[in-house]
Amino acid sequence: MKLHELKQQLSLPKKIVLTSHRNPDGDAIGSMLGLFQVLIDLGHDVRLIVPSDYPEAFNWLAGCRKMIVHDRREAEANSRVEQADIIFSLDYNALDRVDNLGASIRKNKSAIKVLIDHHLYPEPFADYELSDTTASSTCELIVDFLDSLEWADKLTAAGATCLYTGILTDTGSFKYATSPKLFRTVARLLEAGANDYDIQNRIFNNNSLARLKASAYCIHETLVVLPEFATAYATLDQDDYKRLNIRRGDTDGIVNRILSLKGIVFAALITEQKDIVKLSLRSLGDFSAQQVATEHFNGGGHKNASGGRSNVSLKETVKKFESILPQYEHELGGFIEPELNTK
Ligand code: 5GP
Ligand code: MN
Repeated sequence: MKLHELKQQLSLPKKIVLTSHRNPDGDAIGSMLGLFQVLIDLGHDVRLIVPSDYPEAFNWLAGCRKMIVHDRREAEANSRVEQADIIFSLDYNALDRVDNLGASIRKNKSAIKVLIDHHLYPEPFADYELSDTTASSTCELIVDFLDSLEWADKLTAAGATCLYTGILTDTGSFKYATSPKLFRTVARLLEAGANDYDIQNRIFNNNSLARLKASAYCIHETLVVLPEFATAYATLDQDDYKRLNIRRGDTDGIVNRILSLKGIVFAALITEQKDIVKLSLRSLGDFSAQQVATEHFNGGGHKNASGGRSNVSLKETVKKFESILPQYEHELGGFIEPELNTK
């Protein structure tokens, strides 16, 4: 589909569904809500649907409470998707990232499907695709999308706030995947009314005690450092989740703290969820966390920030994680930081 055809479709009121991935993060929520603000102002009937719950930290963003969580309102979520005229897939590259919602999206053959995303290897299911793996975030791409439609002037302070939030969180406060263009986009979001000081305060100075303790516990009690592979990982089991009252989103950022350890190039946080074991993987420079996620843990994402899953126990998953490292020895070896080499 050509952009001008999509613009024409979007110029008349439509039933639109915006979707994003399981365990939605700031970029998933921010891109949905930023686009939502523009589309409702254009007179569309817009529904926001995610597979699973989102962190409470984003509740204050305009429109967030309108989010329909498929895990909790399955029938309603599926029927909205199946009746939509236009379905947006935001911040994910394949329909298996939205669980059962993926089947509903496929089922609605008459809907126009639009993918806006920055993950590697997009699945070719969309009629219109804006996929740019060099972009910092899907929120950055939402601004590009509005620019290409010549609708950037429709950005309100509320919408700009949502998009700024996604950029802030996905770049780790402007540390990763930045570019001169990104900073120009951010400047425009501030001009549109996003208040950077207020947003940073709400996102970063709002930790629960449980969140702080989860991070401290992981690093103090469960961290394993493997200096010969410039790798470190920590784990959390279901008992830890209950004992420390860890909620959704509370573990975000722990893996980045592990990666911050001097000499470490590859970091993992391995957590026992109710039905699977989840891996959050991060890497520095040329070493690809995405390759490890794809090759061994049924996952993917970005080169330096990826995730995956395993269907065996936490213990078995940790064993597997350690056992695959020698395969990457020529990339990971040779970085040994003397301080870490305890042998
Ligand atoms: P996180 O570690 O923050 O959960 O995820 C980091 C990145 O990896 C995100 O870009 C996310 O989209 C991707 N990711 C996380 N889990 C999975 C997964 O199970 N499959 C795929 N394909 N990507 C994932
Ligand atoms: Mn993203």
